[in-house]
Amino acid sequence: DRLISAEHSDGEERQDHAIRPTLLNEYVGQPSVREQMEIFIPAARRRSEALDHTLIFGPPGLGKTTLANIIANEMGVAIKTTSGPVLEKAGDLAAMLTNLEQGDVLFIDEIHRLNAAVEEVLYPAMEDYQLDIMIGEGPAARSIKLDLPPFTLVGATTRAGLLTAPLRDRFGIVQRLEFYDTTDLTRIIQRSATLMDVNVESGGALEIARRSRGTPRIANRLLRRVRDYAEVKSDGVITESVADRALNMLKVDQQGFDHMDRRLLLAMIEKFDGGPVGVESLSAAISEERGTIEDVLEPFLIQQGYMVRTPRGRMVTSHAYLHFGVTPPASEGG
Ligand code: ADP
Repeated sequence: DRLISAEHSDGEERQDHAIRPTLLNEYVGQPSVREQMEIFIPAARRRSEALDHTLIFGPPGLGKTTLANIIANEMGVAIKTTSGPVLEKAGDLAAMLTNLEQGDVLFIDEIHRLNAAVEEVLYPAMEDYQLDIMIGEGPAARSIKLDLPPFTLVGATTRAGLLTAPLRDRFGIVQRLEFYDTTDLTRIIQRSATLMDVNVESGGALEIARRSRGTPRIANRLLRRVRDYAEVKSDGVITESVADRALNMLKVDQQGFDHMDRRLLLAMIEKFDGGPVGVESLSAAISEERGTIEDVLEPFLIQQGYMVRTPRGRMVTSHAYLHFGVTPPASEGG
């Protein structure tokens, strides 16, 4: 129910289909990721090998799933998609692995949420393309070994630190996605607008981009809502002023913050004197899950310089006080 949530909603999947880039040269921004993949993919192709296992990490909505699909597409192979929480038993993973064909991509989203028993099956599969699994229970139990075709595991996670070391070490390629700058987001919005047949002026695209938290998924979602506004309240053209009015109505502020960001920052200022405060205390204070704070809310606020993470806990910066027009308390010791 949060308009600027970086997580996707189900209905959105279908709409996204038309605007999701399918080739590396349509993937806007992330220059270092592109530069590297533009070498690794053709090199693997030329050798007729599967691409090395690839780990993609970054906050939600930055393009991890998109990149996984592009990799398969550029390699000319099929992609099978699953996620950490869906693979409950070792057998669930075994079933996916035995369905792979030579060179295929197995995409595991939220790979940090794999349970230990499933992760154990993944190690020999990644390392030696071997499936080593126990079937049955008690005296009837037996272990079977199967050869798998060479394949590419693409794993996605919000933070690299969430992965166990043995799993992380088995990825030959590690890509970290960064928040997008306004120029890149403007290009993404203009590209989506063209594909959606929406008339957006450059000032309108820029205004939406500025308020999209550096996140393509949010940019595309705001574009759809601003289009609705432009069609009903105006002549359908998204000008800078239409975009501004629409986003104000949607309660997305000039910084792209919404009520949840404001609640988090204000709680730190008003209840914890600006911090340092532990994430658990913050979670209790704003009734928001710790994971949501860590994965969704704070990465952008930290990147934008509104808060910092210190060994003693989270603290707001002078930016945050300025944003809310609150005078910072006199600093310790003077
Ligand atoms: P994640 O898997 O990281 O949550 P997705 O790959 O689902 O994010 O991306 C969300 C949406 O944002 C996609 O549907 C796609 O349309 C758009 N998108 C993501 N990255 C890019 C990019 N680099 N260029 C253009 N559009 C992008």
